Amino acid sequence: MKLVEGRDVDYETIRAKHMDAEVPVVWLESNEPSYILYTSGTTGIPKGVQRDTGGYTVALAATMQHLYCAYPGEAMFATSDIGWVVGHSYIVYAPLITGVTTIMYEGLPTNPDPGIWWKIVQDYKVTSMFSSPTAVRVLKSQDPKYMKMYDLSALRYLFLAGEPLDEPTSRWINDGLARPVLDHYWQTETGWPMLTYLPGVELKPNRFGSPGLPNFGYNIKVISEGTGEEVGPGEKGVLVVVPPLPPGNLSTVWGDDERFVKSYFSGFKEMVYSSFDWAVRDEDGYYFIMGRTDDVINVAGHRLGTREIEEAIQNHPAIAEVAVIGVADKLKGQVPVGFARLKDPSQLGTEGAAEKLEKEVIGKVQEILGAVAKPSRVHFVTALPKTRSGKLLRRSIQALAEGRDPGDLSTLDDPNSLEEVRRAVGQS
Ligand code: ATP
Ligand code: MG
Repeated sequence: MKLVEGRDVDYETIRAKHMDAEVPVVWLESNEPSYILYTSGTTGIPKGVQRDTGGYTVALAATMQHLYCAYPGEAMFATSDIGWVVGHSYIVYAPLITGVTTIMYEGLPTNPDPGIWWKIVQDYKVTSMFSSPTAVRVLKSQDPKYMKMYDLSALRYLFLAGEPLDEPTSRWINDGLARPVLDHYWQTETGWPMLTYLPGVELKPNRFGSPGLPNFGYNIKVISEGTGEEVGPGEKGVLVVVPPLPPGNLSTVWGDDERFVKSYFSGFKEMVYSSFDWAVRDEDGYYFIMGRTDDVINVAGHRLGTREIEEAIQNHPAIAEVAVIGVADKLKGQVPVGFARLKDPSQLGTEGAAEKLEKEVIGKVQEILGAVAKPSRVHFVTALPKTRSGKLLRRSIQALAEGRDPGDLSTLDDPNSLEEVRRAVGQS
């Protein structure tokens, strides 16, 4: 390929020029901003998270040791994009701060073949790996033999975060890898995990569907949306953090202190940081994330979480991934509608196959959750609209399903996926 002068630079030339450069240390007050990073825009217009310097550094260093079990001289592999919070925290800053080798991989987990990640783990003796449920669902449509082709003995743990990890996906990757797979939960706003297992301290038994227990530094509560009171074990409420937020969490919304206080701290009578996620804590203190507070739908007076319906649909063996949204309905208020991607789309090739499968999938939901939760339709699509950080853009799917404008698409990954939804709902 020919380099265009003024636009392109040759890597080797640049490398030679900067190879032995010494960059002087710049002393900063620990609250000086280190960077601004936007949230994924899953629920609306992305918010610019402003981060400090000192607290963030300390928190990252502590998590490398106590949480990720990644020690100096070893290799960590986070499959995120460096433009997202996982990339900032655990591809760039945390490994560099702690003397851990970091691996940057650009491209699909299926290219040149679905074994590429496991080959990287083998070749670089990766001890700690970090990925997302979305990525695992991509691999789930591939032959599991690729996981068995490489020596993964250096790998201690695979950590997953970013979206709910449904039990079927969790079991699939656990069985395939034969290595502990640990779900954990956090947000762009926090910069590092809020709920987690801490294998570097004491590995509590893993519970399927739970991203673990509150991480050090976080005073986490589940409170009632209506009363703001703490709810009991097994009851669903909003996950909040009692201030002060731990070091490294957002210090404000970039350029908008008022929005920072208003959007995150003003929802309840006590001043607490709202995560805008539903959660349930069980008797033993394990948390379960039940989706976002704006993902609740109201069917004939029953409040249903779309997450529960998605989880039920995931139980059908043909399904690779699914998004469920509520669509306005004259009679019932809202009805659940699903959009699912199949492990093997060719199975819809024969006459009547789609109708038959749709019936089966809807039947599965009825069997697990009862008739109220039954989706009125489950559409089969080849791609689902997601943010570039791999999160389902439910608000856009819902807008299209209701014939509205899909809204802010600045973080949409693949425009084709929107067409797929339009086609499915008969708009194109
Ligand atoms: P926006 O705030 O702009 O709508 P976003 O919330 O998707 O976008 P992120 O900060 O990238 O932006 O994602 C954090 C959210 O991801 C959490 O609030 C939660 O809803 C979801 N999430 C992260 N990890 C998990 C997990 N382990 N289980 C369930 N949900 C998770
Ligand atoms: Mg958010």
